[in-house]
Amino acid sequence: MSTNEASATPASLNFIEQIVENDRANGKNGGVVLTRFPPEPNGYLHIGHAKSICLNFGLAQQYGGATNLRFDDTNPLTEDTEYVDSIMEDVRWLGFQWQGEPLYASDYFDQLYAYAIHLIKAGKAYVDDSTSEEIRRMRGTPTEPGEHSPYRERSVEENLDLFARMKAGEFPDGSKVLRAKIDMASPNMHLRDPIMYRIIHAHHHRTGDKWCIYPMYDWAHGQSDAIEGITHSICTLEFEVHRPLYDWFLDNLPPFDPRPRQIEFARLNLSYTIMSKRKLLQLVRENHVAGWDDPRMPTISGLRRRGYTPASLRNFAERIGVARRDNVIDVGLLEFSVREDLNKTATRVMGVMDPVKLILTNYPEGQTEEMMIENNPEDPNGGERAVPFSRELWIEREDFKENPPSPKKWYRLGPDRMVRLKGAYIIKATDYVKDPETGEITEIHAEYIPESRSGNDTSGLKVKGTIHWVSVDTALPVEVRQYDRLFSDPDPGGHKDRDFLEFLNPDSLRIISPAYLEPSVKGAQPLDHFQFIRKGYYCVDRDSTADKLVFNLTVGLRDNWAKMSQK
Ligand code: ATP
Ligand code: MG
Repeated sequence: MSTNEASATPASLNFIEQIVENDRANGKNGGVVLTRFPPEPNGYLHIGHAKSICLNFGLAQQYGGATNLRFDDTNPLTEDTEYVDSIMEDVRWLGFQWQGEPLYASDYFDQLYAYAIHLIKAGKAYVDDSTSEEIRRMRGTPTEPGEHSPYRERSVEENLDLFARMKAGEFPDGSKVLRAKIDMASPNMHLRDPIMYRIIHAHHHRTGDKWCIYPMYDWAHGQSDAIEGITHSICTLEFEVHRPLYDWFLDNLPPFDPRPRQIEFARLNLSYTIMSKRKLLQLVRENHVAGWDDPRMPTISGLRRRGYTPASLRNFAERIGVARRDNVIDVGLLEFSVREDLNKTATRVMGVMDPVKLILTNYPEGQTEEMMIENNPEDPNGGERAVPFSRELWIEREDFKENPPSPKKWYRLGPDRMVRLKGAYIIKATDYVKDPETGEITEIHAEYIPESRSGNDTSGLKVKGTIHWVSVDTALPVEVRQYDRLFSDPDPGGHKDRDFLEFLNPDSLRIISPAYLEPSVKGAQPLDHFQFIRKGYYCVDRDSTADKLVFNLTVGLRDNWAKMSQK
């Protein structure tokens, strides 16, 4: 979008676009837009990160700019290359490409060290020998000023010497820190001499054993943006109170051009969903789920395996927009987005989950026909496929009722009732067989009306119901994993006195095996999408083998969200 087009429709701009357009109109940074997505590689990305990715990459695309992928790898204890790899895969899968190579905050450790020396020389940073407990105590409270550390007035020479020796590994973990010398009485706690470096004798996934002092996030983050020439540093609202500190660092270092401008937006919260990486890690570690990409997880890899498409996540991010105030998005809106996308693209097939046998007593034994059925009524170029039809079929148990509760409204099968078999014939139920012990119906008998073949129906009969079916001889037995929400509470992480694990839904996974699918599905590959008609959207899971396909329920057909939003 050019500035002109945009100014013609100002109402459609969100507040971040407005800031960027203003900056461009004022010729700031020569009109350049460089954003970044800065994940900490300490877990897999989740749907909240997807929102941030779409925002950062989308904004840069919109203004002809670029986006860096920068790993904020300042904490060697929690970070891992497994996470780095998964993050790159997820960003690409969402449809975005970062500028050049991926970047790492650890690439700037030398530069950050030099900046720290600069602050020490200017009398604006000092080495503190206080314990973390003492530092915490002397910080004061939001209403009472803090106290000066006894080490605050160390000379520049002594600070330079001690900081060099911290780096050289002379001191044990936790024995010293480097702090910025700002204002122990500031009403903003982040300005009360924040810690810049701590000693951690630990191996780092990229810098190995080169460093035993590691920069704090607040020290590394803003400077990393400045080093890269980021023009707009977009972050979530909780960093608004850190902004004065980031500004202080930039004000006290040699000037940067461009100087990054931080813009905060409300993080995505979703109902029925946990978004904290720490809690997601706990779900994985304690085997409450089968891994980071368990289809019930709100991770990008979980949603991908579940059958979400990149377009559905991008549309979701676009639809929820950006806000300045914290809010909770109904998870139904996410489900709506994937349903809307798959409706346009998923091949329709017939699959029976809870099979009961239907025998067409007047259909010749051994005879088969191929019924031509459209692949996708939403897609004019979707084509047709042949579905084999024969005397014995599987239908859903729930589609036959001996005594329908409200007979006038029951349009499916029952004694002497008629339905159409999708894409095939009208049939009339004549009889059924029950297991004498359990009372369960084991067989339904019906007669088909030969003149009622779909596409060439001369029977003159009108029936209200159509049900799906699968021919017994050629049915493909598969495993279907039916998912429900992982948590049964709308805000599982929001209860003060109760652990989020208490709200795990014990029925979040139900395995159906075998379910019977029409044979056209044979040979489907992981992530292939289908609509099982009248059931929902499903995709092939990577656990599938040559002998047995495994399907994940992506989302049911019923659209609760659209209904709610119409009320
Ligand atoms: P957590 O607190 O769960 O560890 P985080 O925010 O620290 O998550 P990062 O890896 O630091 O995770 O996040 C990378 C980027 O993604 C940050 O810019 C952050 O603002 C953004 N982000 C993280 N969670 C959300 C969310 N729920 N909604 C929008 N953006 C988010
Ligand atoms: Mg973070």
